Amino acid sequence: MAARAMPERNWAEGLAGNGRASRSMERSASSKMCIFSRGTRFHTANRVLFFWSEMSLQDKFGRQITDLRISVTDRCNFRCVYCRSADPENYRDHDQILSWKELERLAKVFYELGIRKVRMTGGEPLVRSGAEEYVKYLSDLGFADLSMTTNGHLLAERCEGLMAAGLHRINISLDSLSPQKFEKITRTKSFNSVINGIDAVQKSKLGPAKVNAVMVRGINDDEVEAFAEFARDRGVIMRFIEFMPLDADRHWSRDRVVAAAEVFDRINARWPLVQIPHEKSETARKYRFADGAQGEIGLIAPVTQPFCGHCSRIRLTADGKLRTCLFSKDDHDLRAYLRDGASDGELETFIKSVVNEKEEGHHINDPGFVQPNRTMVFIGG
Ligand code: SAM
Ligand code: SF4
Repeated sequence: MAARAMPERNWAEGLAGNGRASRSMERSASSKMCIFSRGTRFHTANRVLFFWSEMSLQDKFGRQITDLRISVTDRCNFRCVYCRSADPENYRDHDQILSWKELERLAKVFYELGIRKVRMTGGEPLVRSGAEEYVKYLSDLGFADLSMTTNGHLLAERCEGLMAAGLHRINISLDSLSPQKFEKITRTKSFNSVINGIDAVQKSKLGPAKVNAVMVRGINDDEVEAFAEFARDRGVIMRFIEFMPLDADRHWSRDRVVAAAEVFDRINARWPLVQIPHEKSETARKYRFADGAQGEIGLIAPVTQPFCGHCSRIRLTADGKLRTCLFSKDDHDLRAYLRDGASDGELETFIKSVVNEKEEGHHINDPGFVQPNRTMVFIGG
């Protein structure tokens, strides 16, 4: 597939590093510095760096790790074709899944290590009862950015409770605007529930909703303009995600990927787009409509425009494995440490050593690329 690059020169350079959270940590590190700051500016800078590296997670390539995706369940009420359609019902036994108490303890350890952004995901996070209480726990811990990705089926009735618990933002998956096609993609008849979920978010303080569509050639690539119109009509942030080789069906192929550049060109031809600045570690390139219409467009291009060089993310799977990349070949068994009675300090040391070895990048575009064993539903996107 000939993927044209998106207009890189228009992508305004955003705030360097890790945004709000990093800056507040830098501030707190430098205020701690005052008691030491008898020396020169050089010494002060060194000490700030010293405290920063002591407080935070960093890999051997110097990337600060501030974002954590926590998968709270491997179960899901959908069976999306690009995710789990061919997976058998091979959910982990309940005792293999981290309990809420274990998830709370780990969240605290990650907070101490400088994680400031947490996204709850799954499987489908809302099928596990207790999701709201966990949001409340995370919110009380003080995470600066607390979000969730959901398929939206249960969202309309849960939206208010999630907001009250302290959720800041929400992403909802919606891969077609046609109920019939939606049914084929998800193998459910939940189209109306998902739309109701999006409406509920739009009416709440959680809005504007981010609506995620995984674009798969031959399935929903005819809907690019319709999705853009949906963004304009509803005032949502419509995000187009490139199909990644993480599907259970193993149907991924390069020619099924709809490049973000194509999505950009098609929308821009109809409704000219204007770049919105983004932070370097953000996955999406963001655009508003030049004619002033409401809504936004986000393009996420892990296949054609990998953003590994600025990646600030790690993942905790529902069964307690730490993953440093979506495409990692190995998991790191945090659950075993936890259940063997490790102290917080031991957990921190383990996490730091795993993070240090975070992969420089994924190899989707290399000839010898091998699809990981875990499919998306068992990783947590
Ligand atoms: N069940 C929730 C949902 O669908 O929003 C959360 C979990 S799902 C694994 C998280 C995100 O991963 C969703 O936005 C989904 O569309 C995306 N996803 C799943 N499989 C994918 C694939 N093969 N390529 C790209 N994105 C994928
Ligand atoms: Fe379930 Fe989300 Fe995967 Fe669809 S994308 S099967 S809703 S986990």
